[in-house]
Amino acid sequence: MMRYIAVLGSTGSIGTSTLRVVRQLGNRFRVLGLTANSNIDLLYAQAKEFKPEFVCVEEPQAAFCLQKKLKTKILTGQEGLKRIISDQRLEKIVLAISGSAALKPLLTAIECRKKIALANKEALVMAGPLIMQKVRAAGAEIIPVDSEQSAIWQCLQAEESNKIKKVYLTASGGPLRGCSVQDIKRVSLKKVLEHPRWKMGKKISVDSATLMNKGLELLEAMYLFNLPAKEIEILIHPEAVIHSMVEFVDGVVMAQLSFTDMRIPIQYALTYPERLANNAGRVQFTRMKSLNFEKPDFKKFPCLQLAVAVANQGGTAPCVLNAANEICVQAFLNKNLKFCSIPMIIEKVLRKHKKVSVPRLEDIFAADAWARQEAIQAIRKAN
Ligand code: NAD
Ligand code: MG
Repeated sequence: MMRYIAVLGSTGSIGTSTLRVVRQLGNRFRVLGLTANSNIDLLYAQAKEFKPEFVCVEEPQAAFCLQKKLKTKILTGQEGLKRIISDQRLEKIVLAISGSAALKPLLTAIECRKKIALANKEALVMAGPLIMQKVRAAGAEIIPVDSEQSAIWQCLQAEESNKIKKVYLTASGGPLRGCSVQDIKRVSLKKVLEHPRWKMGKKISVDSATLMNKGLELLEAMYLFNLPAKEIEILIHPEAVIHSMVEFVDGVVMAQLSFTDMRIPIQYALTYPERLANNAGRVQFTRMKSLNFEKPDFKKFPCLQLAVAVANQGGTAPCVLNAANEICVQAFLNKNLKFCSIPMIIEKVLRKHKKVSVPRLEDIFAADAWARQEAIQAIRKAN
């Protein structure tokens, strides 16, 4: 049976990996919609190959340029995304847009009661409790794509949630694991973008270097699996073979292992509950010298500490952390901010924030906008 899917953020790292999976699975899936921000060259090539009925481009100027080359009607902005997401035929949506821009399409997908293969983590960090409440109320479904969340989710299948003792959220440690505090002060953009285990978009690559990525994943896991922060332990595991683990009340630990390739969790999110053969790499036990585990160094990676603090605070604090982080990462990528100033700016913004404990959606958007302005000003002052 042909299944209709849409890939939102198809030109990114997760988006292109998703299309590779779709290509390898032959005609099991029909791509109904593809969307991107502005990379119209790649979007054009994808549209030629997958022949979607709908293509949506966020940037109006880019949409205009693409329309000249492509017969398919090019949609734009939130309206365009809505048209795709709400299509009756659509069974699953892969949400691979990066950053806070994913929140609105995620909310639309929930309202339309879709199955959502969720790669984006920032939207959950911004409004996790609200999103999960809406998912339950609408009868939508979130299937995690982020490798750690997919691992936890796979370990939990057929288990009752009250039998969980704790979750071990594993982290490779990122490209700066072996660096000293002094090295980190002088680290270059190039080094930051060289992740030892995963090839990813720029934003998540910087987050992996600061370990903010693991902090965002801590929040993501809390909301997806309804766990308090204290029941999630972050464990540095440089080999990145175990993608996360769950310990149950009887002391049994279930771990999920696989080759480090995002196509594996993406494929499972697409084909779930089925498992299908693929040509991805395999875990080679006899070639493994050892598996190592260590506690994260909060002094070296203050972003992780900030994320743990906001995980305990809740309310609008995680949203503010996320917004300030997005601004700082962009400033660092633009060479307007030093790597080691990222946590300092985020902390400054968090200190000034007046938390709303049980935020409504408008409180989330207000906190997000406020934190962005504060971060921009703090960066200006720092320079
Ligand atoms: P990326 O930067 O490579 O791609 C982002 C995609 O989103 C692009 O297609 C871009 O066109 C689109 N986009 C960006 N801003 C947009 C906007 N304002 N409106 C519409 N579309 C927009 O990012 P990525 O590495 O593929 O990551 C995507 C998401 O998945 C992130 O939230 C990331 O944290 C998460 N994730 C990524 C990986 C990975 O291996 N790359 C792993 C786990 C989770
Ligand atoms: Mg991850």
